[in-house]
Amino acid sequence: MNSMSEEIEKVRCLIIGSGPAGYTAAIYAARADLRPVMYQGLQPGGQLTITTDVDNYPGYPYGIKGPEMMEDFNKQAVRFGTDVRFGIVTWVDFSQRPFLVEADDGKKILAETVILATGASAMWLGLETEKLYMGQGVSGCATCDGFFYRGQDVAIVGGGDTAAEEATYLAKLCRKVYLIHRRNELRASKAMQHKVFSTPNIEMIWDSVAEEVLGDDSGVTGLRIRNVKSGEEQDLTVTGFFVAIGHSPNTEVFRGQVELDKAGYVKTIPGTARTSVEGIFAAGDVQDHYYRQAITAAGTGCMAAIEAERFLSSVHQ
Ligand code: NDP
Repeated sequence: MNSMSEEIEKVRCLIIGSGPAGYTAAIYAARADLRPVMYQGLQPGGQLTITTDVDNYPGYPYGIKGPEMMEDFNKQAVRFGTDVRFGIVTWVDFSQRPFLVEADDGKKILAETVILATGASAMWLGLETEKLYMGQGVSGCATCDGFFYRGQDVAIVGGGDTAAEEATYLAKLCRKVYLIHRRNELRASKAMQHKVFSTPNIEMIWDSVAEEVLGDDSGVTGLRIRNVKSGEEQDLTVTGFFVAIGHSPNTEVFRGQVELDKAGYVKTIPGTARTSVEGIFAAGDVQDHYYRQAITAAGTGCMAAIEAERFLSSVHQ
């Protein structure tokens, strides 16, 4: 027997990524007897592991910490027999089925179906103090965290549709919202710009960048900004700082193997988890730049597993 084939593990359903999409897919696939194998990826548990309280996930009436919630997801997936592995998928060949995949533990896997659930990563400014106060006033998601800043003053940085949308969302909850943009024109659509400019408690701060997040033991207390034209610095008194400068889908390893849109997100057939390759499914933020919620990721994870199961039944008939 050829030694190569001895090394190759065969799996029915391989799940790449371990956020709400990956774990939900795992729970469904395991319960459907697909004996899923999951590679957790660079950030086991995904983006929720860098948030604090999650108050908008149904079933947790008193909220839950993001990392704790992901531990619960993990336990539930393991309980039904998911083989969860710490590691990263480094190479894939989706040109023929079963699909060949390599992981950084040196394992080669032949997978009959693959669920892509590698998510997207929020882009950050890269300030030391941004990292320091992450989850203590610094957030990458207004829909998730805006509620904690009701009646307070907050700042948000960015000039695209996300920043504009999040600023108007925050303006409904907060007393004042400073929207800081590095140029003198928003990139956001005209309709979104109109919303921003007609919201009285949003103050635009043009041509400016965040220099430093100010804070103490209680968390964020302010933001130092600099006008890029005059060089003038100013301290804003805020308790929340939202970064909305874009997301980057974690799809580098899939480039050329499955169809991606121009921003790099995996293309799925609307209303399904199917991708351009039969047998490859995608769920969660890796294929969604619009909703980006734990609950929508979980929902599409469920869809992906059901589709994988039905696909396997149809090809093995
Ligand atoms: P975008 O890439 O569209 O915008 C990012 C914004 O952040 C830009 O204004 C950019 O500035 C700014 N930025 C980037 N890097 C930095 C930095 N280091 N410092 C300061 N500012 C920075 O990302 P979005 O998340 O806003 O949108 C992503 C996609 O999703 C877009 O196609 C958008 O249209 C879409 N979307 C649609 C929505 C809708 O239709 N309702 C809602 C949300 C998103 P600059 O402009 O100078 O480059």
